[in-house]
Amino acid sequence: MSKQQFQTEVSQLLHLIVHSLYSHPEIFLRELISNSSDALDKLRHLSLTDETYKALVGNGIDSPRIDLDLDEASKTLSLSDTGIGMSEEDLISHLGTIARSGTKNFLSQLSGDDRKDSNLIGQFGVGFYSVFMVADKVEVVSRKAREEKTYRWISDGKTGFEIEEVTGDAARKAAGTTILIHFNDEGAQYANGWRLQEIVKKYSNHIAFPIFLTYEKSEWDEEKKESIKTRTTEQVNAASAMWRRSKSELTDDDYKELYKSIAGDWEDPLFWFHTRAEGTLEYTTLFYIPAKAPLDLYQADYKGGVKLYVKRVFIMDDSRDLLPQYLRFVRGIIDSEDLPLNVSREILQQNKVLTSIKTASVKKILSELKTIATNDPEKYAKFIAEYNRPLKEGLYGDFANRETLLELIRFKSSKVAGLTSFAEAKDRMQPEQKALYYITGGTESMLRNSPLLEIYKKKGIEVLILDDDVDEIVFSTVAKYGDIDLKAVNKSSTSGDLKDEAAPEKAEELKPLLEKIKATLGDAVKEVRASSRLADSPSVIVSDEDEPSARMRQMMQAMGQ
Ligand code: ADP
Ligand code: MG
Repeated sequence: MSKQQFQTEVSQLLHLIVHSLYSHPEIFLRELISNSSDALDKLRHLSLTDETYKALVGNGIDSPRIDLDLDEASKTLSLSDTGIGMSEEDLISHLGTIARSGTKNFLSQLSGDDRKDSNLIGQFGVGFYSVFMVADKVEVVSRKAREEKTYRWISDGKTGFEIEEVTGDAARKAAGTTILIHFNDEGAQYANGWRLQEIVKKYSNHIAFPIFLTYEKSEWDEEKKESIKTRTTEQVNAASAMWRRSKSELTDDDYKELYKSIAGDWEDPLFWFHTRAEGTLEYTTLFYIPAKAPLDLYQADYKGGVKLYVKRVFIMDDSRDLLPQYLRFVRGIIDSEDLPLNVSREILQQNKVLTSIKTASVKKILSELKTIATNDPEKYAKFIAEYNRPLKEGLYGDFANRETLLELIRFKSSKVAGLTSFAEAKDRMQPEQKALYYITGGTESMLRNSPLLEIYKKKGIEVLILDDDVDEIVFSTVAKYGDIDLKAVNKSSTSGDLKDEAAPEKAEELKPLLEKIKATLGDAVKEVRASSRLADSPSVIVSDEDEPSARMRQMMQAMGQ
């Protein structure tokens, strides 16, 4: 038997879970069941696509299930699956280290304030280690598909774990994993059949595989006039692919529950869009918008949140090809009738069926968002608070949906408090105003106090304040909103409402001064000229309309351009 230490991050995470998650210890069961479900999905997929796994049929693959076996007396619960299993190396690396950068990122955001931290961890999903909230010892016995050996991993969730090979009767006959939980004082409440059923129904009802519970069932015996206990095995969950049922059969709670189990989130989603397409292509999509942006939203190695199913069979998750990158915060399911089951990641990228589903899905998500923006602005504001920026990224890449995206995005403004839209700014245009104006390239207060705004204020023209770091790049590619020109006020312009030319006699008068300034500044500036754009400030630096602005030049230099 070898004893090993947890990686430092694991110890940190364990400490946090045990000390700040005590409000919801029951989620340990949801986490373990979702791992089993993932493991069953993986094996089922491999058995459909890989000949060497097909040979395993008959060894549990054809009866995927999850079994909970409760021993009330010894206060232990075992959770078994017939999934892909783990090898010795898998046990060490999956249950002893943290490989995902999302998790590392999460840990780096911790403040040490338990209340705040437990909110954070709620958004993030805690995974396997949550079992240590309710256990003082956990044994994981696993055999990986296509391998002979079974291994046991044991830990008290404090400092490290031990690993040994299991032989004889204790070895697994087929691939899969059994997790034996020794409940601690906190967890003792779960050594109860009714309680377990309640938790499974609450969090895992729509897991695609049947979940069976074996426990001491008490039933009233009419003849004997006493309650008798019988050891019983019952299926606890509905095990239906919920998204394939029709909307009218589903309650809000059904949707929320499925969301929590697929997204590993505690909070209810902001909204969801459930669509069944019939016709040339047949598919179902169910998309959710999380209440809080995923923590890896701005990480290069973010995880895609949409799972692909073919005829209710799980094919893959974590694919970035199911939705465009700017919609990476969307969680949910695409279930197609038309794709082959053995579709690979590589094939998917150029698959016509999937491309059509993707195109239609993006349109659907954006048009639903537009409807919410119109009908429920308060709810929409919550969405924008989290996702305005990714939508702007969409402007940069998704030309086909640019018009809709321009309607969805919100801005700060020189004229109104809070956030506003292009449509609203258009409604507020002055009768003689020819373009919509915006300013980029600094913090909100810098932009609001820019001398460039003086003349616009004086004339009563609204300027949108674009203070997001992507704004400059994104909006340099967007020339129009509908048929109205969009113009940056920090670029000099010879067209539009405010021609950047001083009256000829003024220019003449100022000529000696301008020449002197140019001589002093030399090559640092291209030109010094008189302008009619300023009201109170004596001077301002601008770029030519067709040239990148000062800040964008800095960014481009930084990118080696
Ligand atoms: P996540 O599920 O988000 O990856 P977890 O902490 O829940 O994180 O699980 C860590 C890893 O341990 C999983 O990614 C998986 O590789 C492995 N694992 C956990 N439970 C099982 C299981 N029942 N069967 C096979 N592998 C498992
Ligand atoms: Mg998990």
